[in-house]
Parts: sequence; C-alpha cells; structure tokens
Amino acid sequence: NKPLNNCSTKTTCPYCGVGCGVEVSAKAVLSEVQVTAKGDASHPANFGKLCVKGSNLLQTLTPQGRLTQPFIQGKPVEWNEAIHTIAGKIKDVIAKHGPDAFAFYLSGQLLTEDYYVANKLAKGFIGTANVDTNSRLCMASAVVGYKRAFGSDTVPCNYEDLEQCDLLIMVGSNAAWTHPVLYQRIVAAKKNNPAMKVVVIDPRKTASCDVADLHLAISPGSDAALFNYLLNETDQNNALNIGYVKSNTEGFDQALEQAKPWTEQATASFCGVSEQELQCLSQWWCSTPKTVTLFSQGINQSATGVDKSNAIINCHLATGRIGQVGMGPFSITGQPNAMGGREVGGLANQLAAHMDFTTLGAIDRVKRYWQAPKMATQNGLKAVDLFKAIEAGDVKIVWIMATNPVVSLPDSAQVRRALKKCDLVIVSECYDKTDTTELADVLLPATGWSEKNGTVTNSERRISRQHSFEAPKGEAKHDWQAICDVAIAMGYSSEFSYQGVHEIFAEHAGLSAFENNGTRDFDIGHFSQISEKTYNEMKPVQWPVPIGKPEGTERMFENGQFFTHSGRANFVPINPQKPAEKLSNEFPLTLNTGRIRDQWHTMTRTGRTSKLMGHIEQPFIDISPQDAAHLSIVQLQIVEVVSQLGSVKLRANIRSTQKKGQVFAPIHWTDQFANNAVISNLINATVDPLSGQPESKFAQVVIRPV
Ligand code: SF4
Repeated sequence: NKPLNNCSTKTTCPYCGVGCGVEVSAKAVLSEVQVTAKGDASHPANFGKLCVKGSNLLQTLTPQGRLTQPFIQGKPVEWNEAIHTIAGKIKDVIAKHGPDAFAFYLSGQLLTEDYYVANKLAKGFIGTANVDTNSRLCMASAVVGYKRAFGSDTVPCNYEDLEQCDLLIMVGSNAAWTHPVLYQRIVAAKKNNPAMKVVVIDPRKTASCDVADLHLAISPGSDAALFNYLLNETDQNNALNIGYVKSNTEGFDQALEQAKPWTEQATASFCGVSEQELQCLSQWWCSTPKTVTLFSQGINQSATGVDKSNAIINCHLATGRIGQVGMGPFSITGQPNAMGGREVGGLANQLAAHMDFTTLGAIDRVKRYWQAPKMATQNGLKAVDLFKAIEAGDVKIVWIMATNPVVSLPDSAQVRRALKKCDLVIVSECYDKTDTTELADVLLPATGWSEKNGTVTNSERRISRQHSFEAPKGEAKHDWQAICDVAIAMGYSSEFSYQGVHEIFAEHAGLSAFENNGTRDFDIGHFSQISEKTYNEMKPVQWPVPIGKPEGTERMFENGQFFTHSGRANFVPINPQKPAEKLSNEFPLTLNTGRIRDQWHTMTRTGRTSKLMGHIEQPFIDISPQDAAHLSIVQLQIVEVVSQLGSVKLRANIRSTQKKGQVFAPIHWTDQFANNAVISNLINATVDPLSGQPESKFAQVVIRPV
C-alpha cells in the first residue's frame, strides 16, 4: 500500500451499482508525483467510460476532515483500547440481555470481505441476525420479488442485454443521472440500432426521457396496475409463450385472473395516462420478443415494492423472455456493492451465501462450516424495525459502518432519538464529522476508497477487485480488520485471524460451494483455494463461478430451470395498490425523492469538490408552474415544505416538466451543507411488509411561501 510512483492500479468506482472499472496512474514529474484516474478500457462494465462522479474521484481524496484515530466519548484513544472496550461491552451486554441486544448496521459501500466477517461474527459467534444495511433502502423489494418468482435472489440479465434488446422498458429509473455509464451504453445501442424502442415509465419527465420513444408519466405508485395490464394484453393478443408457461412455470392462471380487470380503460384511469399511450406500449410489448425491463428505486422504494417487482417478472415469464440474449427483468442496484452484501448474507433476513434461515439444512450447514459456537436461528431486525428497537431499549449496542442513517433513513428524527438513547453507538467512518458520527460513543477511523482492498459485485453479478493505491491515512484501519480484532478480543482468535483479505474471500467462496452441488444459485467455489497472487490478479467475472467454470456465467435461467422446489418459476397474483399515505386537503401535494447527477448519498465525498457541487449548488424542490402560481411562489423563492412528520426549507424550482400536484426533491443535502434541508425529515417510515423497504418515493406535503 505504498504511494504510487510510475505505476498504475486497476480498481473500481465506489459510487453506483454500474461498478465501472477505474485505472489510477502515477507518474513522477520533476519532484512531484502526478496521479490521474480514467476509466478502465478493459473492464466489461464501462469499457473505459466514466461519468462525472467517477471522473472526479481523485478530487474527493482531500485530507481535510479525515478521521485518523479512534475516539471514545470524544477523547482520542489507542486502537487497542477501543477494540477491548468494544469487545468487553459486547460480552457484557449479551451476557445480561442476550445476543439480540447487539446489532450491525452496514452499508452497500463496504467491500464483500468487510461484510462477510461482520455477518460471520454476528450470526455465528454472537448469535444474532441483527445485521442490516442501507441496502434495505435500495433493492430489498427486488430481492424478495426474485425469490418469490425464482426461488433465489438471482439477477438473470447482464449489461449486454440492454444493448441487444429491441425494446427496453425503464421503469422507476432515471439512469441518465443515477447510472450514467449504463445510460450512455443504452444511448449508443439505440444509435446503432434505430429500430430499438425505449419506453420510460416514470411520473416525472427526467433526463432519461431524452432517449425515450414513449414516456408514460404514470401516477406515483401505480406501476403494478400497468404491468397487470400488460399481462392481460399478452393474453388477449395471443402473445403468450404457452410452451414456456406450461413447462417452466406455475401459477399462471391465478396471476392472469388478477390481471383480467386491468383493461385499457381501467388502467388508463388508475395510472393517469391515455388509452393511446397504453395501446402503443401493448403493441410494442406483444410484438417484441427481445425485451428487457430495467427497474430501480421507483419500483423498490414503495410499500408494495415486492408486488411491483413480481408484476414485472410475471410479464417476462408469460412471454418466456428470460435467460436469453436481450431479454429479462433486470433490477439495477443503487450502490456499488449492494449485491456483494446480499451474497454474504448481509441482510437481517438472510443467513449466508444466498441461504436463508428457512433454507433446508442451512443453519446446520453454516454452523459446521464456520465451526460456530452460537448460531442465530431466525431472522433479525430489518433497518426501520432495528432503529425502533434501539429506541425501545431492546438493542443496546449498534455498530454502524460506512453509512449515515441519521439522514438517510426515513423519519430521521426517530433515528436521532434512537441513537441518543442507545447505550453504545459505535461508528466506523472515514470522516470525523457526519450527522451520525456526532452521536457516536466510539468512533473508529476507517480506510477509504483509495486505501481499501477487496471485492465488489455490480448489478450484473460481476465480481471485480477493488485495489488500494494509497497507504491508510493516519491510524485508519480496514473495516474487516476492526471487526476481526474485536472478534479476537472476544476470544475467537482462530476463527478470525486472517493473513490477508484474500483468505476471507476464499472462505466466503468455500461456503458458497459447501454442500451445494448446483442446488443454490450463488456458487463461487472456483475461488475457494485462491492464493494471494491470483486474488490480486483476478479479472472481473460474473457469478456463479463454480469449480470447473472459471469463466463465470453471463446469463441465468437459460435452460428454463429455477431454484424453486419444483424447478419451475412462480407467477405471483398481484392486486395493485396505491401508496399507503393518502392525499388530503391539508397535504395536497405528492413528494417524490431521488438523486441528482453529480451527488452521491449524503455528500460526505461528492460534497468535497467544487466541480461536483457546481452542478446544482443548493437544495431545491421542483414544482409545476400551475402549483407555483396557485401558491404565489416565484422562481428560486425559499419555501417551507411540510409533511405530517416535519418540515424543511428549500428553494422552489418551477419546471414546466413537473406535473401539477407533484413535487420532487433530492435526498442529498444534510445539515452539514444546508440549513434545515434533510428530506428524510418528511418521509414516513412506512415499509413494504415483505421486504421492509421504506416508501421513500412518496410523501404527502404542503408548501408554504416563506
Ligand atoms: Fe461510478 Fe456509477 Fe459513474 Fe460508473 S456510472 S463512474 S460506477 S458513478
């Protein structure tokens, strides 16, 4: 981990789920070392391209504000003291209150190896499944949707399918801003194949509509009805793949019966679009075998996000459009390693290596593999419930890593209350001042992107190596090392003494293959004996990578076999629902939330560069000209936005593309960057009952001129 000098390092971008390869080079020029970063031309996710966030990665690596030593109650301490304090407190608390009084709250920004040891310590050695993550806010609904349909959390497609399809349906995704390199690939594909059609389904007219042949500006939350309509139309227009439905699926009749009421007229009325628009969508859908449906947070962040995922998957199963080139239902993750977290079991309702607590024999299998003394035996608390349990005093220690839940979880006031009340809040962070570090009892300095070494998995199941190219700042430690040090201090030295990060990856790979024999989707057994040298030279590869198949797997379900008991995919009957919170005279406007092009999450990194801050400098709320006129609001006026939960102050941005009755605000600004602009103050902690994912895309608000 020495500083670069006349060399180059291939790594990956730490922002979105596209997972672009980055090449960082250093050259000695006179007495200085000049470091540059560019897209890795050999990486299959981006072939050398980077978006503006990726291009400005080096500018975020400023030393100002880096946390460089551990603190306990605000006093600097040695690592040894911090580790032994944490280990001692965990042992005390579990002795007095049981293992479920401890919890990890992790992040899709962590590397797979960090995630793996956290999951192993909690689920195998402390005995709690309270391991949840900010990925709960990202793609938890898609996970449950896939599991219900396929019997496994398996993304069937790859990025090439987005280029090979003849019809691309983008739903609940503003990829132009949130997954820009993927969007650029889509634009280029359409240029090469002008016959390719792109449909964008989104209540807002976003930048992604630039590539659209058809934009369906549906009412917020009405997506499931639209896909029920498509299922019904598939039947009515004889576009079903009857052979596939009969041989490879179950439950079609029940799903179709639920879809039957969704006629053109009923759907147009429910979704707020015209019958002509629906006819166009139906005609393209029914006549285009090579179709991909790309979906993201607009589907997932909903109280019925799982049903929405299954409504999409139903349409693909009915037409057999899955597992073949240019076809499939494709959930794209927000974060760089949301997928890697899923792989190790980094969600409270997962065990490990894509096994659940309910997977037959899984608890015993993992226990034997880990030689674990205290196995958790049932699901832990999902993010929103976890912070409620902390406030209730049931969870007494929480260890938060690489995330800022005080501003990213809904009902941020509740999260703040919970952390204030918690007996011990441990926060591992790169930066000394975030909204969450302010509430830490123990603050641990973590290595950042340029210093970390390990693996990440992007949205197309591609595992890539992230390589460090700088030494850790000050006393910053890798997250996996901090966890292992605590585990060793708790008495588990033989189980957590790794000679290097490659040994963790090898153990994780070994578990994925242990007693697998093709019965589980996630198998990277090829890497179970990997040496440090081979690990360091590892090329990006899509899992599964079982023993004997080092080239990995481009697409899943090509043979029409699924991981359900019967081997057939399940249709799920869907009864579409509107969002949980209802419109009222008191709160007449519907708030939608999302990301902007040049910022990432709560701006702890992207807020450090003037280039990225220059795109949009201040927090804002998009409002239609009609609503602005009705409320006597003028362009750029400061307004107060009030929901049942709280209020924020934002600058009004009157946009002709914003629909009357709907407003939009970005999620990024925190108290560190603006006064009273934390959007999660407005969002209710309503969740999908199956996935636990909050309905972050929907709140009823009123706007008042200030
Ligand atoms: Fe990074 Fe995503 Fe941009 Fe690629 S598209 S450079 S992964 S932020």
